[in-house]
Amino acid sequence: MNILVTGGAGFIGSALCRHLVADPDNRVVSLDKLTYAGNLASLRQIENLRNYRFVRADICDEGAIASILSAEKIDRIMHLAAETHVDRSIDGPGAFIETNILGTFRLLQAALHYWRGLCGRAAEAFRFHHVSTDEVFGALSLDDESFNESTPYAPSSPYSASKAASDHLVRAWHHTFGLPVVLTNCSNNYGPFQFPEKLIPLTILNAMEERPLPVYGNGTNVRDWLYVDDHARALDLVALKGTVSESYNIGGGCERTNLHVVDTICDILDGKRPRRNGKSHRDLIAFVDDRPGHDWRYAMDTSKIERELGLKPRESFETGIERTIDWYLENGWWWQPIRDRNYRGERLGRSVAA
Ligand code: NAD
Repeated sequence: MNILVTGGAGFIGSALCRHLVADPDNRVVSLDKLTYAGNLASLRQIENLRNYRFVRADICDEGAIASILSAEKIDRIMHLAAETHVDRSIDGPGAFIETNILGTFRLLQAALHYWRGLCGRAAEAFRFHHVSTDEVFGALSLDDESFNESTPYAPSSPYSASKAASDHLVRAWHHTFGLPVVLTNCSNNYGPFQFPEKLIPLTILNAMEERPLPVYGNGTNVRDWLYVDDHARALDLVALKGTVSESYNIGGGCERTNLHVVDTICDILDGKRPRRNGKSHRDLIAFVDDRPGHDWRYAMDTSKIERELGLKPRESFETGIERTIDWYLENGWWWQPIRDRNYRGERLGRSVAA
């Protein structure tokens, strides 16, 4: 199986590449434009494997994508490349429209042309797997039912609107042209190699450096958290066994307020890395003006993927967050160069996403 992973140098894309290369029957081509969020260091442990290769390319470049698909004889595209940070989509939506909508369109066109040139079993087995987010469904209140696969789309940020548009394009390329697609919508991921502008790594690193821990509003926004390796496993399973044209919700069954997440990190660090002045890391929490249009709650009904594909997350939030903290404590070689380029979240109001 020759698999093209777009966005392979990003947080989830690199976890997916690490997962896929463990099967020697897979040949993985990781494709990435290497924006500020793409980092080849996240792929260091697999970069010399015989069944892995990296290509620097932009998904908006249809010609380049077409050449890669043919040259690598790709059987499956797993499409993760995207602009992903909600706060950046508020400050500058252009790149989100460009990559998430136009880029997905170009990739679909290249995939369609390539798929039409395949014969017999190769054409039948080909899959275009589009990786998306729970944010396309909008926000829930406390009493609302969780999102399921039939929940109408109601995106509210430029990021989620651009992802919603890309989901619709992917479905249209199936219904109109027959391209064999599957889609997944997943809740918030966390784990090693996450760019430190996102809530969990930003909190861990700021706490380690005894800097303020920014929390939006009063910290009551609720997210469902999934450990990234559970997401990678789910993606592989859906691409292999999911029904063409269907979408699957993926989630952690782990709803937590942002403040609970930050408090938990503080408490674990109090044990592992006490502060010099003996105070709790919780003292560093700083409530900042809320994000404009901040969705209050996301929650996923994952009964379809559990029922049809037998999938459940392995990592609980409590074990996953501890593993994540340990990883950041031990892997300064990965995050220090990024921090040195000034991603400490001082620009807040706007650089804490969840
Ligand atoms: P990320 O920002 O860490 O990585 C995105 C990657 O895409 C980067 O490596 C970047 O260089 C690359 N990229 C951006 N524009 C590109 C372009 N034009 N051409 C090629 N590569 C390009 O994001 P992530 O958190 O790993 O998310 C990956 C995917 O999963 C996204 O599609 C996102 O919408 C989706 N998703 C993320 C989460 C989450 O919690 N992080 C949850 C659900 C779904």
